[in-house]
Amino acid sequence: MFEDVISFIQALFPGKEFIPLHEPTFIGKEKEYVNAAIDSTFVSSVGKFVNIFEEKICQYTGAKHAVATVNGTSALHAALLVAGVKNGDEVITQSLTFVATANAISYCGASPVFMDVDRDTMGLSPGALKEFLKNHTKKSGKSCLNKKTGRRIRACVPMHTFGHPCRIEEIAELCRNHNIILIEDAAESLGSTLDEKHTGTFGRMGVYSFNGNKIITCGGGGAIVTDDKEFADHARHLTTTAKKTHPYYYDHDEVGFNYRMPNINAALACAQLENIDIFLADKRKLAEKYSKFFDSVPSASFVPEPDGTKANYWLNTILLQDCKARDLFLHETNQAGVMTRPSWTLLHKLPIYSHCQSDPLTNALWLEERIANIPSSVRL
Ligand SMILES: *Cc1c(COP(=O)(O)O)cnc(C)c1O
Repeated sequence: MFEDVISFIQALFPGKEFIPLHEPTFIGKEKEYVNAAIDSTFVSSVGKFVNIFEEKICQYTGAKHAVATVNGTSALHAALLVAGVKNGDEVITQSLTFVATANAISYCGASPVFMDVDRDTMGLSPGALKEFLKNHTKKSGKSCLNKKTGRRIRACVPMHTFGHPCRIEEIAELCRNHNIILIEDAAESLGSTLDEKHTGTFGRMGVYSFNGNKIITCGGGGAIVTDDKEFADHARHLTTTAKKTHPYYYDHDEVGFNYRMPNINAALACAQLENIDIFLADKRKLAEKYSKFFDSVPSASFVPEPDGTKANYWLNTILLQDCKARDLFLHETNQAGVMTRPSWTLLHKLPIYSHCQSDPLTNALWLEERIANIPSSVRL
């Protein structure tokens, strides 16, 4: 049934018996920088590449401060703690996201509240958020309380799904008006912009991931970006075991974490970031090819970048007609060595999160049945 799609994808990635969904590309100074880190003996959490990488991330995204971490999940966890998320609090996020978003909330002892996404962006819907805030919350002093549970809603974590920017400005305004701290899960969307402003820089904090499958990678890595110096200082402190600066004393003033990015990973990250514009241009070309091709495929539609945005096209996405067609597509493509994958299982359906409050999630449920991600690697 999907032979034409399979041969089209195979022609895009010639000479490959197995076409992965997203593999990393190392065409720059990766080896040179990693060797320099080894030669310096500073391979762990102190070293010049960590600082250089943080500066480069600031330059690239326009954020004032960056704190590099061991991975995106730890960056989310630390950002939530810095935002003051406490045991018993609630944090609004979307059900259609990778489990790490909700896990980081749980690590703080807080509960996620799952909101719907928009169909076109696949990210948190400001409409759904507005409805929820209007009907289910009340103001108490400076806090926003959930009327049903009486718990404080401290933060909101929208996610830019597969690199497509969500309606972040509307979400930011709703959060400001309700005293909710906005933290963007931009793990998938480094390089995606809305009116030329980078995703990750609209909230009070933003989080990126540099895992092996992301747009740039350093093996494992993440970063928190923010314009707020106090947040940045606290994040740096928390992710380095909350050790007070001193030439030799070991003094710790809160329960911290060993979340700092090692220098050897930062070396890799620096080299990768130097080539991100090349990666983005190449991915845009691939997305254009897919977009054109799927115009003439009646059984599937390509998901373009939302109006007014520039997506990094981290993972290209198509929508099949229904769940059955989607399952057949996954079966036939994977059988042919063309890696494709469905949406994540919506988080509110996982037993670990099934007790959490959610709205009707109409669009998330609709998308969950139809999404397929197709091979999206850089092809240089
Ligand atoms: C990859 C990812 C993360 C976590 O990043 P890691 O570096 O793998 O810990 C968090 N949220 C989303 C949406 C992601 O895709």
